[in-house]
Amino acid sequence: MVDYKKMGIFGVFGRNGSNWRLKALAIWNLIAFSYFCTLTSLTTYLVLFEMIPFIFGEFATSVMKHDIFTCFILLQVVGNVVLVITTDSSIHNLPPLWNKPEIRNISSRKRKTTDEQKKNLVKISNQSVTRRKDADKNMNSSSAGTPEMDAKSPLHNETEEINTTVCDSCNALAPKRSHHCLLCNECILKRDHHCFFMCTCIGFYNQKYFILWCFYMFIGSFYSLVIIAMYLKKYFNISFGMFTLLTLLPNTLYGWWFESSVIPYQLLIVGVFYACLTCGLAAAGFFYWQLYIVLQGQTTYEAWKGILTYSDSEMLCNFKDVFGPFWYISIFLPLPLPQKGLGVY
Ligand SMILES: [Zn+2]
Ligand SMILES: [Zn+2]
Repeated sequence: MVDYKKMGIFGVFGRNGSNWRLKALAIWNLIAFSYFCTLTSLTTYLVLFEMIPFIFGEFATSVMKHDIFTCFILLQVVGNVVLVITTDSSIHNLPPLWNKPEIRNISSRKRKTTDEQKKNLVKISNQSVTRRKDADKNMNSSSAGTPEMDAKSPLHNETEEINTTVCDSCNALAPKRSHHCLLCNECILKRDHHCFFMCTCIGFYNQKYFILWCFYMFIGSFYSLVIIAMYLKKYFNISFGMFTLLTLLPNTLYGWWFESSVIPYQLLIVGVFYACLTCGLAAAGFFYWQLYIVLQGQTTYEAWKGILTYSDSEMLCNFKDVFGPFWYISIFLPLPLPQKGLGVY
């Protein structure tokens, strides 16, 4: 028996209650993902094996430098995509602290939280994590850790401020910043949005990989644009002027369709050029927006609603809440590094 509930967007086609709109969105997901894979592999192939050797062929050192740079960007793009897709940001992957039975019990109580209490939430939660670490150290080094001590630990008292909510769709108990995704059919921790190019949701554990993917897609796309422009100049004698961006595509299409003066290979290169341009602009926009809300300590949903409840006054704290304690490694190496902190709330 196939369990459609655990198949992400593929399950949309078999789950009860999936309407035509959801199915259309799932198909659109798969098209967007295929487009991304095709464009990335085609552009990389052309840049690496056709354009760089043709443009810099006489200078072996230049070829090597450009090859290394292209491979580095490709590693970042592919690595971060794999990490976004394979990292589970659903509530099944709650941080260890949340899985403590006492927290779940306390959190599940229906309590009314005042706005003032909500404002203190970040500070209180951070304190409890820090002090929890100290308590853990003591437990490891001494005879501490008895039920009596646990009952008195700061965590036991202070995490009462952490609230959960019950999801109407899957009936699960989830932290407040979680939201249910109909396509993924799961509650996502600190959900930001559903990414159509990755066929998955961006949340607490994989947002950093998504942001880095946007950044490297932006760099890679604009690097490819420069290389393609140089190739068009040298191979097809097409110079770039003020209005070339506006005229290149219509002129190429016209020449190919009506005059047969443009060969299909030239049409392909011009097509890739415009695909890289749109892709680079979109990636730049996403990167700017994501970095902005990360520094603000918000998700896209919270920014849209003007919610600043979980934001810290220090931008660096907000940044580390998303990028984790090993952010300086993540930026250069796409590795599955641990995500700490109570960013899920
Ligand atoms: Zn749910
Ligand atoms: Zn989703």
